[in-house]
Amino acid sequence: MKAFVMRRIGEVGFMEKDKPACGPNDAVVRATRGLVCTSDVHTVAGAIGERTNLTLGHEAVGIVAEVGSEVKLFKPGDRVCVGAITPIWGSDAAQRGFPSQSGQALGGWMYANVKDGTFAEYFHVNEADANMALIPDGISDDAAVYCTDMMSTGFAGAENANIPLGGTVAVFAQGPVGLMATAGARMLGAGLIIAVEADPKRQELSRYYGADVIVDFTKEDPVKKIMELTDGQGVDSAIEALGADITFQQAVKVTKPGGTVSNIGYHGSGEFVHIPRLEWGVGMANITIVTDLCPGGRVRMERMLRLLQNKRIDPTRLTTHVFPFDEVDKAFELMKTKADNIIKPLIVFS
Ligand code: ZN
Repeated sequence: MKAFVMRRIGEVGFMEKDKPACGPNDAVVRATRGLVCTSDVHTVAGAIGERTNLTLGHEAVGIVAEVGSEVKLFKPGDRVCVGAITPIWGSDAAQRGFPSQSGQALGGWMYANVKDGTFAEYFHVNEADANMALIPDGISDDAAVYCTDMMSTGFAGAENANIPLGGTVAVFAQGPVGLMATAGARMLGAGLIIAVEADPKRQELSRYYGADVIVDFTKEDPVKKIMELTDGQGVDSAIEALGADITFQQAVKVTKPGGTVSNIGYHGSGEFVHIPRLEWGVGMANITIVTDLCPGGRVRMERMLRLLQNKRIDPTRLTTHVFPFDEVDKAFELMKTKADNIIKPLIVFS
């Protein structure tokens, strides 16, 4: 079968691979739709070290082609959504309540990290009963594929931010994950959502997904503006959805004592992320910093799908480009350069 791989740091391409084998608890899924993620770009740039001929991709839905002898909930032909993160549910971390970290730090992140990813005609799912969900009739693959990472991660950013009903929230960066964090904050009852974003297309989507005020950091100092908008108090919750030292620092600076900084940004470069000492109350301001990796699992995916089923959100507005699988390299290049106002490229498998 055809696969789109990271040949080595800085180089991608297509290659032929064997169809994955299916263990007793596993499934093999024929991909129907996928999305390219900025994480794939970080990985190819070397953010997690060298990889050789590793299939890229971790956001995909498809049709079950094969299930192992112990799989009870799925059968060939089922249309399924597979979390980007596929935890080992018997692991120590999963049993302690942190399944995304199973096995080792970030250990639930397997696709395009420790095993072949989803940019292939077929992909493997470990612990299929626990890591995939049936897509209900009436939900398109084009929408369901957003459950795998963008919705799950963005919403986790809002869920972890301890947003009081009617509380104030700042979301730093309105890329696809930040936009879903904005949507999540809205659904969780935030009273004021301030989004920090300079790109006009992203600003427009930010308003659509629930931001009340947009701060353009190229025109004004976001910290100063957010403090003004909150009468000098700061926000209850700040969500960092970029993965940069500067925005992380700004998130801490605008969070009021007792508030929460929720990080979902992928800090892909640099040795340190800094905490501003004074605004952190010299370490005593009761500011909680929460970090998370995209939550996976069947129940999580079922919850995401329920939001689509009952029309709480339409994530397909994030799709700015569509490519056939044969041209996933073009989509990847666009995600790398962020050219043509790209937000998410949808990959269509034949
Ligand atoms: Zn992703």
